[in-house]
Amino acid sequence: MQLEDIKGLGNTTIKYLNEIGIYSIDDLINYYPFRYEIIENSDISKLNDGDKIVIGGIIENVPNIIHFNRKLNKMSFRLNTGSFVSNITIFNRAFLKDKLNVGNTITVIGKYDKKHNSITASDIKFGLIEETLIEPIYHSSFKISSSKISKIIKSILGKVKTKDYIPNSLIEKYHFIDKDKAIKIIHNPTSKEELNKALARLKYEELFMFMMKINYLKNAKRKSDGLSRNVSYEQVLEIINNLPFELTKDQLKSVKDIYDDLISNNRMNRLLQGDVGSGKTIVSFIALYINYLGGYQGALMAPTEILASQHFQNFQKLFPNLNIVLLTGKLKAKEKKEVKNIIENGKANIIIGTHALISEDVTYNNLGLVITDEQHRFGVAQRGNLKNKGITPDILYMSATPIPRTYALTLYGDMDISSIRTMPSGRKPVKTYVKTNKEIKDVLYMMLDQIKAHHQIYVIAPLIEESDKIDLEDVYKLEEKMKKAFGKVCNVGIMHGKMNPKEKEEIMNEFKQNKIQILISTTVIEVGVDVANATMIVIFDSYRFGLSALHQLRGRVGRNDLDGYCILISDKETKRLEVLTRTNDGFKVSEEDFKLRGGGDIFGIRQSGDMNFKIADIKNDYDLLLRAKEDSETFMKSKEYNDSKYDFIKKQIIQSANLD
Ligand code: ADP
Ligand code: MG
Repeated sequence: MQLEDIKGLGNTTIKYLNEIGIYSIDDLINYYPFRYEIIENSDISKLNDGDKIVIGGIIENVPNIIHFNRKLNKMSFRLNTGSFVSNITIFNRAFLKDKLNVGNTITVIGKYDKKHNSITASDIKFGLIEETLIEPIYHSSFKISSSKISKIIKSILGKVKTKDYIPNSLIEKYHFIDKDKAIKIIHNPTSKEELNKALARLKYEELFMFMMKINYLKNAKRKSDGLSRNVSYEQVLEIINNLPFELTKDQLKSVKDIYDDLISNNRMNRLLQGDVGSGKTIVSFIALYINYLGGYQGALMAPTEILASQHFQNFQKLFPNLNIVLLTGKLKAKEKKEVKNIIENGKANIIIGTHALISEDVTYNNLGLVITDEQHRFGVAQRGNLKNKGITPDILYMSATPIPRTYALTLYGDMDISSIRTMPSGRKPVKTYVKTNKEIKDVLYMMLDQIKAHHQIYVIAPLIEESDKIDLEDVYKLEEKMKKAFGKVCNVGIMHGKMNPKEKEEIMNEFKQNKIQILISTTVIEVGVDVANATMIVIFDSYRFGLSALHQLRGRVGRNDLDGYCILISDKETKRLEVLTRTNDGFKVSEEDFKLRGGGDIFGIRQSGDMNFKIADIKNDYDLLLRAKEDSETFMKSKEYNDSKYDFIKKQIIQSANLD
């Protein structure tokens, strides 16, 4: 059956349906209402002026009609509701006049003007409403209305057989109603109870198929086409024992997870997540070392030049016996060529760099491991850019934005996850304060205390962003102010996105060496920068940032046993900012961010197409998602899964997983 076969459906309507994405009967049947209008008689005593009203009554007079033009008209009449007489007005329904006779019983749906006891009606139903009416509301367009869509769908309900993607064992387990019946109810519900059953059925199916896909990706994608390495855990322990500090329990566990991945021939696809300052970098270094011991080249990609060179220096310090190169977009052509040569001929053991690692024309030599810092997930196309003569490297992603469990399950559902939840010992929570611009004097005194204690301070300047073309006035003004306040007791430096990498690096180095005590900066220091003696961060206009971003910034201080302070200066949204004064746990902060900003683009990752469910809602149906996850895992391992009658499920999964 095709759209053309639906009785009374003309080409124009089909065109309108096409415009909202409906091309087939299947599309139509699966075009679910996005909400329902519940129509039940109103309790007049509870209504306020302007509320929606549903009320039955008897028509008292012949409706009066005014025609404005061919299309526009207004009809009015009196309705006796039993408790009062109301003036009803309704637009463009002149065609109903013949059915609206004096003495007829009707129900009016509309907006209630309490003072005048009048109703502006949006709809009229004949007779009284005994029970609740539930009207499906569809996403519609100017050309085709929700009620028209509803009519078309209703006309084919019951005539179409749908495919049922839930295996029998699970239908029995949850006593799910029949799929076709659920579809019928979704488009034409008669009670809330049955609607809930139908919703549960269809939502579950959607989530189940989603989790099946995720499981499939997880299993199929890297089965045995990975690299194995001949490295003993004793060798790893030797590295660990030679570190200048003792690893935390979670760091050790993460190293072990990664080690297991690296020696097995399953391809690693792992996310290492942990709060700012939890010590992910050292874990990644050890991973690179294990990879090196296994005979492969390894690469670490950082989001900024500063971070890349910081990692480069730290790695060299810790493992001076390896040959490490730094590759960033800002190298001079000649240097770049040299570095690329060393990479290609295999002399480089470890390559650390920025996006240049994949965007430049680099040929790797036996590349076994790629690590990206701060959740730069890259897609298939970019992975292809890692020119590597046929080898598919293991991949480790690092993220300092802890992801609420909901999101982890979906966004990163096809990945394994290692979490570092505990901070290195001796870390104290950063004391956080929210201050207004009027209280700047207090802030300056707090800063002075830190300077007197020979500590250093970050000041995040307002309004400047790396990519912006705006003038640097604000930053320079701030520099002037800071110099006025502190110029006699310490050195004030400035760093911003318009500086070239060399200048930035110089300033950063001066700050690291404590030649500068107060560093004014735009957010270029946001990720990963590490200066242990910096104990305070002052953030101007902090309302401009999301809580997670502020938490990241705050992570720049309190990186050792010294007390750390974060001062959020803002005249707006102070309530929201105060969340940060109450918790130092990045997982909690991101949950709050999630609550405040909803399921949008919180993590800087564009919501993947995967997350746009038709009927399920990732936030509200989270429990159902968890169940679907468990069930899908059990199902995939069961005998039932191999029954050929479920081949179409597998086919569907593979199709939607759209494998590379
Ligand atoms: P992030 O997880 O934010 O990338 P880093 O890896 O930069 O954090 O670690 C922050 C600081 O903590 C660094 O100075 C690092 O050397 C130090 N560090 C990491 N692990 C430990 C540990 N187990 N004990 C003490 N200090 C550690
Ligand atoms: Mg880091």
